[in-house]
Amino acid sequence: MAQSPGPPVDIDLIRTQALSCTRCRLSESRTQVVWAGGNLDSDVLFIGEGPGFHEDRLGEAFVGASGQLLDRLLAEVELDRSSVGIVNVVKCRPPGNRNPLPDEIEACRPYLEAQLDHMRPDVIVTLGNFATQFVIGRPIGITKARGATFGFRGATVVPTFHPAAALRGGSDGGVSRLDAIRHDIGRARAIVDEARRSRSASSTEAEQLGLFS
Ligand code: SF4
Repeated sequence: MAQSPGPPVDIDLIRTQALSCTRCRLSESRTQVVWAGGNLDSDVLFIGEGPGFHEDRLGEAFVGASGQLLDRLLAEVELDRSSVGIVNVVKCRPPGNRNPLPDEIEACRPYLEAQLDHMRPDVIVTLGNFATQFVIGRPIGITKARGATFGFRGATVVPTFHPAAALRGGSDGGVSRLDAIRHDIGRARAIVDEARRSRSASSTEAEQLGLFS
């Protein structure tokens, strides 16, 4: 956990509220609210854009083709859905998979904020423009943001392409989008490993101080 503890978040209550939310027009066309995927008690959080067709039907984030690609890339660095949290900027599917609109992102903001408050992750991987702009707080394109890291709420943010962009193909700067995402997930893995090592060293030191005090 990266941040110092703030007021406790009753994430189960907030999830229950989200599941019947009508704060924006996306409630009118959704099948169901897609709260999250993976493990929201992890120290790593992936943030995508919004649910697609399969997510809307199944009620879990990143279960369509993009999710399957994400699963494969996670497996390459020995991570899986039980070891990372996966959420979206908006929790209801935009009709026809259109981009979420600014007022929809704002309406849904409290849910993502609550998920961040609950998790206090060490590493956040933002998948695509919308998640990256949400976290960085300014209109920056993913092509420009990618390759850098940013601090946000005590976490290290690693921006990368959305897996859907890799599925569409193409490259940037001579590197395929797929390889770019693979590289960025590898960087995220290295950052979280370092955070875990440093947490473990601090707790050993605290135990030793306790022993000898
Ligand atoms: S997208 Fe978010 S704010 Fe809009 S209805 Fe769904 S849960 Fe509520």
